[in-house]
Amino acid sequence: MDIDIRALPTPCYLVDERLILRNLEILHSVQQRTGCRILLALKGFSMYSVFPLVGSYLKGVTSSSLFEARLGHEEMGKEVHIYAPAYIDEEFEEILAHCDHITFNSFDQWNRFKDKVKNTKIKKISCGIRINPEYSEIETPIYDPCYQFSRLGVTLNNFRPEELEGIEGLHFHTMCEQNSDTLERTIQVVDQKFGKFIGSMKWLNLGGGHHITRPDYDIETLVRCINFFQDKYGVDIYLEPGEAVALNTGYLVAKVLDIVDNDMKIAILDTSAACHMPDVLEMPYRPNIIDAGQPGEYPFTYRLGGLTCLAGDIIGDYSFRQPLKPGDRLVFCDMAHYTMVKNNTFNGVNLPSIARFNEEEGIKLIKQFGYEDFKTRLS
Ligand SMILES: *Cc1c(COP(=O)(O)O)cnc(C)c1O
Repeated sequence: MDIDIRALPTPCYLVDERLILRNLEILHSVQQRTGCRILLALKGFSMYSVFPLVGSYLKGVTSSSLFEARLGHEEMGKEVHIYAPAYIDEEFEEILAHCDHITFNSFDQWNRFKDKVKNTKIKKISCGIRINPEYSEIETPIYDPCYQFSRLGVTLNNFRPEELEGIEGLHFHTMCEQNSDTLERTIQVVDQKFGKFIGSMKWLNLGGGHHITRPDYDIETLVRCINFFQDKYGVDIYLEPGEAVALNTGYLVAKVLDIVDNDMKIAILDTSAACHMPDVLEMPYRPNIIDAGQPGEYPFTYRLGGLTCLAGDIIGDYSFRQPLKPGDRLVFCDMAHYTMVKNNTFNGVNLPSIARFNEEEGIKLIKQFGYEDFKTRLS
């Protein structure tokens, strides 16, 4: 990393706008080549201080709740799509005020809310149904929208063609961190099962989980998949990646607080897997650390632990060229997506500060948190 992080408080997320820009340019090239429309899924990345930059390339946002929709509307102001497994009656009026595309998870939800949609005076809202093609290649059930008894999307057996009047789009989301070969196999199933309904739609949303900005991603196959649906049915194609927008664009800078010994050296950090990088425990995965290796790769191996009381608040085992000591800084990589949006203050641990870097301004510390942020969520 070429940014001098010594002035940053710790722990702190640091997002490098140059890297966001690089991702946006890749995504934009797909839009230019195919005419598809790409949305940022706020679920994965909601750092609204970079929304102006994101909005200069992408067509808008997709949201999973009223609050995300409102944030996208207020801070980006382009297209705002929403999908949720169910909508809350009391929130629906406000959802109508912020969104231009609403995808429903069931025909009952559609029937429950369709009059409200039709009667909105403010603007025309385009509605869709989420389908479940019952085909996915995700191995981890918690991330697989097609696992047995999944509540996400309407299966072909439960599809009600006679209730489609007023529906302009179909939506499927069945991928997670996958390449376009998975998409190509998936769209064959979608076409086989739901093709007869796609022809009467205005749009088809291919969801998220497309790892488009990963170095080995095959963009040609993605382009072919998009063109396939556009040519066959004349529909507009939406993609709504979260992760691909922010992939490899940010860091979490943390500090060593203490070293303890229990049959191995354990470093306690001023960050926490449970609070600041929950996917390390949930996915689970092992984040890379700059200048660190696998256990045993370098002379000094440590287990890195968080500062909560949770026994399993462990980030992983890493080795270093020099012994660690209190005050040393560690830089965790790829910490922009599914981190800030999932943070919590379990154990009263403070939230990491948020900073960004760009060429013009250098490092800019955008936000720091404190006791009030902890207290206001409790009573
Ligand atoms: C999570 C989600 C996304 C974004 O997924 P990524 O893996 O971050 O690209 C898009 N659409 C829906 C419906 C989602 O649930």
